[in-house]
Amino acid sequence: MATERVPEQTMIPLVEPQIGGNEWKYLRECIETNWLSSAGPFVDRFERMVAEYIGVKHAVATTNGTAALHISMILAGVATDDEVIVPTLTFIAPANAVRYAGGWPVFVDADPLYWQMDSNRVADFLDKGCRWHEGRLINRSTGRRIKAIVPVHLLGHACEMDSIMSVARKYGIPVIEDATESLGATYKGKQTGSIGDIGCLSFNGNKTVTAGGGGMIVTNDAALAERARYLTTQAKNEPVESIHNEVGYNYRLSNLHAAVGCAQMEQLPSFITKKKEIARAYRQLLGPIENVETMQEAPWASSTFWLYTIVQSGSNGTSRPLAAFLKDAGIQTRPLWQPLHQSPAHRGSQAIGGDVAGQLCKRALCLPSSVGLTGQEVEFVVNSIRSFFKTAL
Ligand SMILES: *Cc1c(COP(=O)(O)O)cnc(C)c1O
Repeated sequence: MATERVPEQTMIPLVEPQIGGNEWKYLRECIETNWLSSAGPFVDRFERMVAEYIGVKHAVATTNGTAALHISMILAGVATDDEVIVPTLTFIAPANAVRYAGGWPVFVDADPLYWQMDSNRVADFLDKGCRWHEGRLINRSTGRRIKAIVPVHLLGHACEMDSIMSVARKYGIPVIEDATESLGATYKGKQTGSIGDIGCLSFNGNKTVTAGGGGMIVTNDAALAERARYLTTQAKNEPVESIHNEVGYNYRLSNLHAAVGCAQMEQLPSFITKKKEIARAYRQLLGPIENVETMQEAPWASSTFWLYTIVQSGSNGTSRPLAAFLKDAGIQTRPLWQPLHQSPAHRGSQAIGGDVAGQLCKRALCLPSSVGLTGQEVEFVVNSIRSFFKTAL
C-alpha cells in the first residue's frame, strides 16, 4: 500500500491542457490590435478552421459547449413540454440544455460494449413506446411530443450513427450530435458532429482542444447557422436602432478565447496522435491484469480516447477503492458520471433501461489522459493499478 500522501501539485492530473503552439503570439495580437471581445478576426478564423476540419459548411462559436447545446435545442424546435432523447450515461450538460428550452429528457441506457447510447433501444422506444397523432410522434407513457435525439459521443468514441440517423429520418426528428468529447473522432470515416442536423463542440479546459472556454455549433444548413448566430448575439434585428424581434442570448465567444482556440486547432492532429498512443500503451500494459477491462473500439469508430477509461470486472466490483489507492499514489482519476435517470437534478424523467449505465458508474474509472502524459507516467499508473490488485483484493 502507498502510505505517504502525495501533495496535490505533484499529482498526475486526470487531464490538463497542452500549450505548445501560437497561443501567446495570437493572444498578443488580440491585445495589440484591441480586438478582445465578441467580434474579431480570430472568432471568424476559429469558426472557419473548425468548419473545415469537421467538414461542414457553417460553424458558430459560443461561450461554451452547454450554450451551443442550449441554442441547438431551440434550433431543433424544442419548446415547452417537448421531449428529447438523451443518453443516461453522460456529463449532465445535454440534459440540462433540454430543460433550459422547457423540454424534458427521456434517458436511454448505454450499450454494454462501447458505452454509447444504445441505438437499438432508441429505435425500439420510438417504434413501440411512441405513436403517431396528428402528424406528431407522441410518447405513449407521458403523452408528450418527441422533438429531437441527442447522441453523445462519449469519451472520444462515436455512437452508432447509421441506426440513429435512420430511425430519426423515419420519424422526421432532428439529430443534435453532442461531439463535445469527440473532436477529431470519426464514424465510418466521417467526423463526429458532421453527421446529424447539428453538431455541438466544447473547448473547455479538459477537452482535446481548449480555448480556455468555448463552444461551437456546426451544421451544413445555412438557415440554421444564421439563426444560431442571431440567437447567440441577443437576437439583434437592427443593430443601430437596437431592435430585437425575439429574446436572444449573449452566448458569443470572445476574440481572446478564439485566439487560443486557433492556436490549439493548429496542434489538433498531433494531439490526437498522442491520445491514440497513450490509449495503445494503456491497452497493452493493462491487458494482462485480471479484473481490468480496457476500452473497446467499435468497428465503425476511430476513437480519440479523450479520457482513457477502464472497468473493474469481477463480482461486486466497484472502482472506488482503486481510485482511493491511486490518489494516495499521486494519480488523479475519476469515475464516470452518475446516470442521469438517478440524478436528483432530473428526478421524474423517464428512463429506457439504465442498468448498464448503473454498472458502468459503479465499476468504471477514467485514468490520466493528458496529451502531455509521458510513457513513464503511463507505466507508473499501470504499475500502481497492478499493485492495487495484488495487495488489496
Ligand atoms: C464538456 C461537455 C459539455 C459541455 O461543455 P462546456 O463547454 O463545459 O459547457 C457537454 N456535453 C458533454 C458530454 C461534455 O462532456
